[in-house]
Amino acid sequence: MSTGTSPWTPAGGAFWAGVWRAPDAELEVVDPENGSLVGTVGNCSSVEVDEAVRGVAQAVLAGPPWPVWQRREALHRAAALLDERRDVFAALISREGCKPIRDAAREVQRAIETVRLSAEQAARLEGETLPFGNTPRGENRLGWFTREPVGVVGAITPFNDPLNLVAHKLGPALMGGNGVVLKPAEQTPLTALAFTELLLDAGVPANRLAVVPGRGATVGAALVSHPRVDMVSFTGGHTTGNAVAAGAGAKKTLMELGGNGTVVVLRDADVRRAAEAVVDGAFGNAGQNCLSVQRVFVARELVHELVDLVVEGTNNLVVGSKADARTDVGPLIDEAAADRVEGWVAEAVEAGAEVNAGAKRDGTFYWPTVLTSVPAGSTVLTEEIFGPVVSIEPFDTVDAVVAEVNDLEYGLQAGVFSRDLDAALDVAQRLRVGAVMVNDTGDFRIDAMPFGGSKRSGVGREGVPFAVDAMTEPKIVAIHRTSRSA
Ligand code: NAD
Repeated sequence: MSTGTSPWTPAGGAFWAGVWRAPDAELEVVDPENGSLVGTVGNCSSVEVDEAVRGVAQAVLAGPPWPVWQRREALHRAAALLDERRDVFAALISREGCKPIRDAAREVQRAIETVRLSAEQAARLEGETLPFGNTPRGENRLGWFTREPVGVVGAITPFNDPLNLVAHKLGPALMGGNGVVLKPAEQTPLTALAFTELLLDAGVPANRLAVVPGRGATVGAALVSHPRVDMVSFTGGHTTGNAVAAGAGAKKTLMELGGNGTVVVLRDADVRRAAEAVVDGAFGNAGQNCLSVQRVFVARELVHELVDLVVEGTNNLVVGSKADARTDVGPLIDEAAADRVEGWVAEAVEAGAEVNAGAKRDGTFYWPTVLTSVPAGSTVLTEEIFGPVVSIEPFDTVDAVVAEVNDLEYGLQAGVFSRDLDAALDVAQRLRVGAVMVNDTGDFRIDAMPFGGSKRSGVGREGVPFAVDAMTEPKIVAIHRTSRSA
């Protein structure tokens, strides 16, 4: 196992049944900025996935129960350790992923909060007594329910938030008392392995946790279809989500999928504020964020002012090396992603779209791009671009813009800008998306809120308290009294 110049050396290339492993096959992790080797991890086989799942299932089904107070304390210790190791994690996230170092440090802070919030969910696991006395059939019975683990959670994560999205799976799964087998994204597995080591240091029982790096088509597919996996928690693209749902069959699933981030700027909006938020929301992490702003609908009378301000903000962004603290926009995850973004922009321009900023490429770097006059039906409008490209379009009536947004195939989050709260709330209530942010773009989230979308954007809700609910089930115990004391 080699780790190149990795800021952290993994104890092994995979982990299951309480032991760090060195699978025969290896997966190289490269820096998307320059292709340099960051490290190697295991490239697990379906046989190894089977071993990992069975190990965790054995611990959950036959092992000693893991008391709620111990779960809470282990997760509080994990949050404290992450705080201590924040620089190592920020460097790792930035090296193997796409985030400039400043954004990577922000992700670590988010993950500390996610883990702490998971620890605080102990009260959510309490149950209630049941009203057996309310019906004749219930007479002489006494009962209650508690919230019990679903069993083994198979967790699959994407590359764009290598730490916080892993924390969103492992924190709630462990707090709920489950065992969990994680398959991190093949591009960013080192952060997930470092986080596993941290959880073990914090006191998470080693046999309840496994990490099996590898390819989606082998490791991911073997994990979701495994008969001992009770629930699949998946975050990734819509097409992969379909494959995951087909492979999982009739299992409980939580699907956090893509979006195409819409923003509606009403005629009485603070245009400068909207423009700043659009630049931030469209180009953070080079647009590789499920909440990235991709389509901006603006009242026709404001379109020129908004475009000018967005272009000005975009041209002020620093595109460059991730290690440089001044960098705002780093690379895309690989050449194929840059090819896709470049191709979709070229298709729109060929059909008549106007480039107001960007549309320039160098290897995996694609410059923040602002398009206008994009013809309806262009791929940059209809599909999730997952790159630094925003399209700005005028609208004439609120009814028309609501209909257009609701007609999109995705429905994750949206933003509405207006100084008139009634007007903003009217739009917020009519949009078919998982959340609407007023005077923010949809690129805003706190880790405690119910998070997820409608249509192609997902099934169910994550967000720590809601994920704990999803990863536990009510379990009833009832007592039938046969005699009465004299
Ligand atoms: P992806 O769908 O290509 O991969 C996600 C994960 O699924 C990876 O670990 C991959 O190896 C695995 N996978 C691939 N094929 C599989 C299969 N057949 N069976 C099981 N697992 C398989 O996504 P990506 O490119 O890593 O990430 C980008 C996507 O993730 C975007 O669509 C983005 O919107 C979405 N995303 C959604 C959220 C959210 O919370 N809604 C958050 C972040 C990213």
